[in-house]
Amino acid sequence: PKYVYDFTEGNKDLKDLLGGKGANLAEMTNLGLPVPPGFTITTDACRRFLDDGTLPAGLEEEVSLHLAALEKQMGRRLGQADDPLLVSVRSGAKFSMPGMMDTVLNIGLNDESVHGLAKQAGGNERFAWDSYRRLIQMFGKTVQGIEAALFDDALEELKNGRDDLELEAADFQRLVETYKGVVRAQTGQDFPADPHQQMRMAVKAVFDSWNAPRAILYRRQERIPADLGTAVNICSMVFGNCGMDSGTGVAFTRDPGSGHQGVYGDYLQNAQGEDVVAGIRNTMSLQELEGIDKPVYDELMQIMEKLENHYRDLCDIEFTVERGKLWMLQTRVGKRTAGAAFRIAVQLVDQGLINLDEAVARVTGAQLAQLMFPRFGKDADSTKITTGMNASPGAAVGKAVFSSERAVELAARGEAVVLVRHETNPDDLAGMIAAQGVLTSRGGKTSHAAVVARGMGKTCVCGAEELEVSAKERRFTAPGGVVVSEGDVISIDGSSGAVYLGEVPVVASPVVEYFEGALDQDDELVQAVHRIMSHADASRRLDVRANADNAEDAARARRFGAQGIGLCRTEHMFLGDRRQLVEDLVLATSPQERERALAALEPLQKADFTGIFQAMEGLPVTIRLIDPPLHEFLPDYTELSVKVALAGERADDKDRRLLAAVKRLHEQNPMLGLRGVRLGLVIPGLFAMQVRAIAEAAKAVPGARAEIMIPLVAAVQELETVRDEARAILAEVGVEALVGTMIEVPRAALTAGQIAEAAEFFSFGTNDLTQMTWGFSRDDVEAAFFSKYLELGVFGVSPFESLDRDGVGRLVRIAAEEGRRTRPDLKLGICGEHGGDPDSIHFCHQAGLDYVSCSPFRIPVARLEAGRAAL
Ligand code: PEP
Ligand code: MG
Repeated sequence: PKYVYDFTEGNKDLKDLLGGKGANLAEMTNLGLPVPPGFTITTDACRRFLDDGTLPAGLEEEVSLHLAALEKQMGRRLGQADDPLLVSVRSGAKFSMPGMMDTVLNIGLNDESVHGLAKQAGGNERFAWDSYRRLIQMFGKTVQGIEAALFDDALEELKNGRDDLELEAADFQRLVETYKGVVRAQTGQDFPADPHQQMRMAVKAVFDSWNAPRAILYRRQERIPADLGTAVNICSMVFGNCGMDSGTGVAFTRDPGSGHQGVYGDYLQNAQGEDVVAGIRNTMSLQELEGIDKPVYDELMQIMEKLENHYRDLCDIEFTVERGKLWMLQTRVGKRTAGAAFRIAVQLVDQGLINLDEAVARVTGAQLAQLMFPRFGKDADSTKITTGMNASPGAAVGKAVFSSERAVELAARGEAVVLVRHETNPDDLAGMIAAQGVLTSRGGKTSHAAVVARGMGKTCVCGAEELEVSAKERRFTAPGGVVVSEGDVISIDGSSGAVYLGEVPVVASPVVEYFEGALDQDDELVQAVHRIMSHADASRRLDVRANADNAEDAARARRFGAQGIGLCRTEHMFLGDRRQLVEDLVLATSPQERERALAALEPLQKADFTGIFQAMEGLPVTIRLIDPPLHEFLPDYTELSVKVALAGERADDKDRRLLAAVKRLHEQNPMLGLRGVRLGLVIPGLFAMQVRAIAEAAKAVPGARAEIMIPLVAAVQELETVRDEARAILAEVGVEALVGTMIEVPRAALTAGQIAEAAEFFSFGTNDLTQMTWGFSRDDVEAAFFSKYLELGVFGVSPFESLDRDGVGRLVRIAAEEGRRTRPDLKLGICGEHGGDPDSIHFCHQAGLDYVSCSPFRIPVARLEAGRAAL
């Protein structure tokens, strides 16, 4: 196979093979943009290397050929003593993993070529030695695994309070010697002077960094498959650190926070790439570059426009200016906040760059869900202590913590925390995941903290420069002498950048208010959401229903766009005051006692159903007959035994009878016990009472459409018995209703052809179906061993969260197909939690279901994803 592609050979569609960075460098090269020449080693080579730890046969030869061609083109050899070619070795996977993997710059420098580099730069010794020390530092840290602090401390010591711009050539030269000493002490060997060896080692290190712990954690968080591998880009160096006429920057073609078009980015003079992202010095805005170097600025603006029109989307870029010449080092379709995603999609439609189908495809249900989070109210201002940059929106409240470790520790105890750092680096990832939000005192909107937080949808305020953060003393000081120590509660607003002392109350989001029925004509975001939702609704084939079991939820569900109720659980209607009636029912020893208990329940149930039918105004309402594990309705066996035992002789008769009943009904495994249809068959009159209440309620509400659903059926015979009884009652009352079943036991799915003989609809209860297909308890296992399973890659996400297509999904497909073979007009839906999960919704669309049903708050997400699935 071919393992190496010159930048002129690739294109943006080859991300699988060349990684995002490599594919886009190739695309820019072919667009004629100023990209320093170079080549990319494929992800395929990385996968082979990771498989057996050796570089695949032929790779080194191929790299040599490409390097020779590059040397010829540049007119310099790698590390050539009097006129060296230097290269960067950069990671670049298919999906962007900011800062998670390794990069080494300035490869090719050693004690000889450092002089050659100075000569190249017109005698700029300072620059050459600065570059050399950077090589040893980055190489030592990433390739040789030396602790970064050893280098950082040496630098701080040398600076001795000076700004890095004040350092001179001699300082850096001294630093090189110190660094070489660090390498010798830590590895027992000299820093490798051979440029080819440097490059070889760097390539391997980049491959290996695919499996660095933080990269693994990031992939899990972002659901990126673990087996993709990274490509390696070898690129001729251009230098932003050779004087004040040089520099490096990051830019977006639009504001990734608001979506607004315009000049947007950070620039740092006399610096190399990682300085900006690491937030080492505070940057200047891109506009300021216009004053410093107008021709470069103008060219950059032109290129940004060209890129946006070419990619038809927001792009982010990294660029370097080397003594007045602009170079493009990277571009990609940029990450953005949820709100910006909606705004940008609609703006691009208005600009004629994309159509509405594409606009719907460019936003996700997860982003919409984020926009539905509450935010801080306006009255919060009284406790504001400072304002930083609004790097990633949302409202976060929690105890201030000052290290990633503490964040993880407190979060594990269930505490809400806000991670406060000077600046974050990739090692803070675990803490960022654990925290509600992230606050930094340094770094711009393109700093590590900002980029990663946006990607995770986590609230972030960065560059709050007025704060003096001391990680060591675990506190920060705000203007006016306010001191916030670890454990003090703060609130941060990622949409405005405000930081508050104490807990600030939150208010509903404007997007939720829109779904509730208030279309604010002035709110640009709400308008964008409205247009996209309208198109998603017009495009989708799936109906969206709600899981709701009271009139209030039903009414909200309708406002949110539900087209019916897909699951009304009736067991909740038996709790509270009515529990007594259930106890009476279970304790009944004669038919008369049972009748009395049921007769007391029936009017209450009728009222419940009437309220729901009224709220749904003629839309279908699927009511599931009671499905409790019985123990949930009876007193606890141990507690009751103790009570009866303590009372001794004086124990009242009712308690004794109750205890006997509880003992009789006690189950080791209630989830696999007397529940669902089994209960209905065992307790005479229970289901009949419910059916009668449904029928009476339906009769009382004009237009009501009832669908009666039997839970936990495993065999058609169970269903037939209940159905016949239900039909008789419906006929007696004189109303029509569909009678169907849930498919939540594997046997039901496997015998769906038979079951469909007796069912007018199926609704997949994928909570139980997942539990029973995997054979693990939905109530217990997530905490017990899922993190281990996620780590081992048994699954990438909990099967209770996102439908397991291979196993549970296969049962769904079998049941859908065989059910419809028996009864072509069989209505199919899903009412397990998966009905509100984006990926599962796409599956339901593909499997030919008629509707998904989910909790009222997920309905907008389901509408959007159903639309996306259909495009
Ligand atoms: C299911 O099992 O998926 C279901 C919807 O029923 P419940 O969650 O009430 O068991
Ligand atoms: Mg169930």
